[in-house]
Amino acid sequence: MDISIIIPLYNEEESLPELYTWIDRVMHEHQYDYEIIFINDGSTDHSWDVIEQLHQQAPHVKGIKFRCNYGKSPALFSGFEKAKGNVVITMDADLQDSPEEIPELYDMIVNQGYDLVSGWKRKRHDSTLSKNLPSKIYNATARKITGLKLHDMNCGLKAYRNEVIKNIEVYGEMHRYIPYLAKVAGFTKIGEKVVSHQARKFGKSKFGINRFVNGYLDLFSLWFLARFGKRPMHFFGFWGSVMFLLGFIAVLAVGFMKWHALITHTHAPLITSTPYFYLSLTMMIVGTQLFLAGFVGELISRNSIERNHYNIEKEI
Ligand code: UDP
Ligand code: MG
Repeated sequence: MDISIIIPLYNEEESLPELYTWIDRVMHEHQYDYEIIFINDGSTDHSWDVIEQLHQQAPHVKGIKFRCNYGKSPALFSGFEKAKGNVVITMDADLQDSPEEIPELYDMIVNQGYDLVSGWKRKRHDSTLSKNLPSKIYNATARKITGLKLHDMNCGLKAYRNEVIKNIEVYGEMHRYIPYLAKVAGFTKIGEKVVSHQARKFGKSKFGINRFVNGYLDLFSLWFLARFGKRPMHFFGFWGSVMFLLGFIAVLAVGFMKWHALITHTHAPLITSTPYFYLSLTMMIVGTQLFLAGFVGELISRNSIERNHYNIEKEI
């Protein structure tokens, strides 16, 4: 099979028939052998009925129905597990992403050797203030931290080589950083393609402004996991030692000053009357705590089922 199109959706009943017709037309024009996997993420409208109808008309339309609303990442994850196509396309169900982009994305994966191609909604059709500006700042941070030169990391329209999606695990709300997950898993040929973007025709956006707060927190978690996930002590132990050492030096300095004042019979105030005493005390305590967090981290990562999980590319 050439292409699997994975579409997570939550209450998008009005868009689905039009989306299917559009995709089917484009696929037909290019004579692709393809499947569509709709993942109904606990919709409370009639989305699932529409998917069932489509499946009856065309068996290459497949569906997964979640019992409740788990979120976009779990939906993508389940779709990835089921996908059989050589190239896997993800897109939103709300008609904001255009299926016309698929042939070119497919070509970039198959003929230009990309592992992953991310869409870039250069001209966005979302309400300006709540999305465009925060999105720019957010993408700039993501570029810095992930080292990936992408303008629109969270674009719903993306294409992958099948191997990529079978080797990464999207969870929580990590769908925003799939290119980074792929990079960490060793898939480094990651490209970008400008894609057209329409305004939402039906329904409303499912993500509020809190996406940016959560998005930032997830970015830091991923960065931490990628760098220190398998060796937490190297992070906590290092900073714990630095803190403790600075505190210890400060305590020595405080002690030395007291001792010096005593032997030279100059005025020797109580050591607790200088702020340095409290600073050094705090630093030593925090340093010890960080160090202990390192031990706990090691205990946890030792028990992780992924502690010996490696992406093996070839074996002879
Ligand atoms: N979506 C989903 N589960 C959710 C929220 C959203 O499957 O809990 C789907 C939604 O139906 C759409 C896609 O994810 O197909 C992108 O959502 P939306 O269009 O609301 O995001 P925006 O375009 O505003 O970024
Ligand atoms: Mg949308």
